[in-house]
Amino acid sequence: MSLDTSKVSYLCQRCGNCCRWPGDVIVTPEEVDAIARHVGMEVDEFIQTRTRLSANRKHLSIIDKEDGSCFFLEGKNSCLIQPVKPAQCSGFPNSWQFPGWRDVCEAIEIPAKAG
Ligand code: SF4
Ligand code: SF4
Repeated sequence: MSLDTSKVSYLCQRCGNCCRWPGDVIVTPEEVDAIARHVGMEVDEFIQTRTRLSANRKHLSIIDKEDGSCFFLEGKNSCLIQPVKPAQCSGFPNSWQFPGWRDVCEAIEIPAKAG
């Protein structure tokens, strides 16, 4: 077994920075159902009061607080819907990234094991 430094994965340090970046937190219909159930709301009410249209108007996104952070962020780094958080959240930064992400994300780089 050897370390393949051409591939890395990232270990989240739970700094909470990604929850404070302004922008879309996309939720799929299945995620809407699960989150509404988790917070004890009817799906229609949840959609009306906790989501908005994404910037490209193709999806639903969780609403933001006034400072641009996610509505479900509590304190510095606590997610109020952690067990049912959207795939966009759980997938970052291993499944997707965006330009400049490394300047704000504190995740530790881990070389992938190969062989
Ligand atoms: S749903 Fe949770 S993990 Fe995702 S951005 Fe909001 S607070 Fe962060
Ligand atoms: S910014 Fe990076 S290290 Fe911080 S909570 Fe998000 S994924 Fe984890």
